[in-house]
Amino acid sequence: MPRIWILRIGHRPERDKRVTTHVALSSRALGASGIFVDTEDRALEESVRDVVGRFGGDYSIETGVQWKRVLKGFEGEVVHLTMYGQRLDEAIPKIPQDRDLLVVVGAEKVPPEVYREADHNVSVGNQPHSEIAALAIFLDRLTGGRNLYSDRDGLMTVIPNERGKTVVEKRT
Ligand code: SAM
Repeated sequence: MPRIWILRIGHRPERDKRVTTHVALSSRALGASGIFVDTEDRALEESVRDVVGRFGGDYSIETGVQWKRVLKGFEGEVVHLTMYGQRLDEAIPKIPQDRDLLVVVGAEKVPPEVYREADHNVSVGNQPHSEIAALAIFLDRLTGGRNLYSDRDGLMTVIPNERGKTVVEKRT
């Protein structure tokens, strides 16, 4: 089964902790296998690993990576999400579903090299918005939402409930 990885470029620990945490958690919820973040941020690693520890799955986080090395060494297809890219609905059919995928999202201005290296520069609409929203919509369209309710075998499992909260906690 091909896997999906995220590369987050331009992370500033003092400003972006919450947004990058949400990039990681949203991608995890939608079925990605892990995230690479260009700036070292131990607090970010801990908060993502804390969620994975409680809610399960094998989502990984690595911070302080050299983004050029990750981008160039990736064995699979590279998608860069940018408001300047081609239309989402036209791009999705061109992305092979039988290869691992690296999805690149920025924080501030993304270096031109990323646009050149990516196999696909894809927009989620041509208006500026958010890396969290862009990534969530892209992954949902790509996977048809199939991972949203997949079992992660966590210490805590939430059971869908029309009202109230139902949580099953595993005894350790
Ligand atoms: N001004 C920055 C630029 O020119 O690259 C964009 C910064 S935006 C807050 C952060 C990230 O959100 C972008 O690097 C891109 O990955 C994502 N993003 C924002 N709007 C998008 C859109 N309409 N389509 C796809 N990705 C988008």
